[in-house]
This record gives sequence, C-alpha cells and structure tokens, in this order.
Amino acid sequence: MTSAASTAEIGVIGGSGFYSFLDDVTEITVKTPYGAPSDSLFVGELAGRRVAFLPRHGRSHHLPPHRINYRANLWALRSLGVRQVLGPCAVGGLREEYGPGTLLIPDQLVDRTKTRTQTFFDGEPLPDGTVPEVVHLTFADPYCPVGRTVALAAARGRAWEPVDGGTMVVIEGPRFSTRAESRWHAAQGWSVVGMTGHPEAVLARELGLCYTSMSLVTDLDAGAETGEGVTHEDVLRVFGENVARLREVLFDAVAALPRNEKRDCLCTHAHDGWDLGIELP
Ligand SMILES: [Zn+2]
Repeated sequence: MTSAASTAEIGVIGGSGFYSFLDDVTEITVKTPYGAPSDSLFVGELAGRRVAFLPRHGRSHHLPPHRINYRANLWALRSLGVRQVLGPCAVGGLREEYGPGTLLIPDQLVDRTKTRTQTFFDGEPLPDGTVPEVVHLTFADPYCPVGRTVALAAARGRAWEPVDGGTMVVIEGPRFSTRAESRWHAAQGWSVVGMTGHPEAVLARELGLCYTSMSLVTDLDAGAETGEGVTHEDVLRVFGENVARLREVLFDAVAALPRNEKRDCLCTHAHDGWDLGIELP
C-alpha cells in the first residue's frame, strides 16, 4: 500500500468511462473502518498527476445511490493520499434552459436525502478503539472554490460553456421526482437535481478534502418538461453521448489542479479549532 503505484493525489468518483482506456492502471483493494468502498480503486497517471478513479456505483453499476458506502469511498481515497476530489455526475435540469448536455458546476447544495449516514463524527468507536468527537463543521460553501474555478476554465478550454454556479438538490431516489416535487424544486430556485451529490460533498469536507461537482444534465426533470417524465434510458443515452467531452474536461481539470501541498482553500481549514478524536488516514 505504500509503493508509488498505490498512491494518488487526486480522486475522481465516476464510472469506468473515465479511466478504462488509460495505460498502466493499477487496481487496488482498500479496506476502511467503515467497510468496503463501491469497488477497487483504479490508480494511474494522467498529465503527470497520480489519479485514483473509483466507480461510484461499482464497476457493474450494482449499487443504487442510497446503498453507496459514501464514507468508505471518501476514506479510501484519502488513505491513498488523495486530497482533491472531482465528482462528475448525471443530474436532471430544473430549468428549461438547462437542457440535456448542459454542464453545470454547482456552488450550493440542498440535502433532501433520508437514510444516509452523512458524518464520520457520530460517536461510534472505530475498530482501533478511538472515538470521534462531536464535530460541527462549517459547510456554508460546500464546494472547493479553487476546484470550481479549475473546472470552469477546463470546460471553456474545450469550448463547452458551463453554467457557473447553481444549486444541486439531492434526492433519496432511486426513483425520479414526481412532477409536483420537480415543480417545487424549481420554484425554490434550485438548478439541478441529483441522487449522489450528498453526502459525498460533506464527507469530503469532513476529511479536509477539496470536492468539486461536475454535473452533466442528462434530462429535463419531470416538472420542467411535458412528456412522459424522465427515464433511465434517457439518462444513459445522454451521458453516453457526452462522456467523451466530459472526460476531456475532467482530464484538463486534473492537470490544472494545484499540487496538494500548495492548497490554501477553505477546505484545508475545515478542522481549524476542532479536536476530531480520531486519526484521519
Ligand atoms: Zn479546496
């Protein structure tokens, strides 16, 4: 676990479409105090950076959003040395102008999930006997400002004008929204709806990691369109149509992220003033 081949500085939580063609990828199984991550981590080199890819839903896409072990995923990435995470994901657009193929880099988040463990600081002892303290982290700005800037520039560099900012509402799923729910989300002024952005973002913050969401709109959500409603086929088709250019933007962003030791964003100050009670990996 300590050889160079098994370390990484940047993590990407996304499907195999992002790493399957990279040369020289090492598959690493990581154990965590919270159980197993969604899959092995696939570590390789990209633009001179060590990157760990983790298929969020498992390589055979067998994990629905509410069954993903988000704590194990983030912990596993950090244990390899990752300090900056990019989270590409598929979302529904809540405004007519955010149609399929829109890339939105959100700056805010609303949690409407119901059953997910969303903290490492729950008072439960770790297997080594240490007990996390009660910790209340600042989460006013849920995404890394540096990562957002880098992602926006990477998209523009590929002539894909992104939406700069917006609110992602994260629902429990796995079903899509009703029309009434979707109209309500839109009426709140929220921009896109997803199923995995939370607790991924907050768990990254709890580990002092930089986290940037790169949200690809695959459909107009139920309340924003007049047809039959969202289908999974629509989501897969639009994601497939856009995965190549999303990969280009993602890779350019990886290349442009600061070195971990040069980070000086709010994420690096997440633990200021707190005794965590546990050792982070
Ligand atoms: Zn940051």
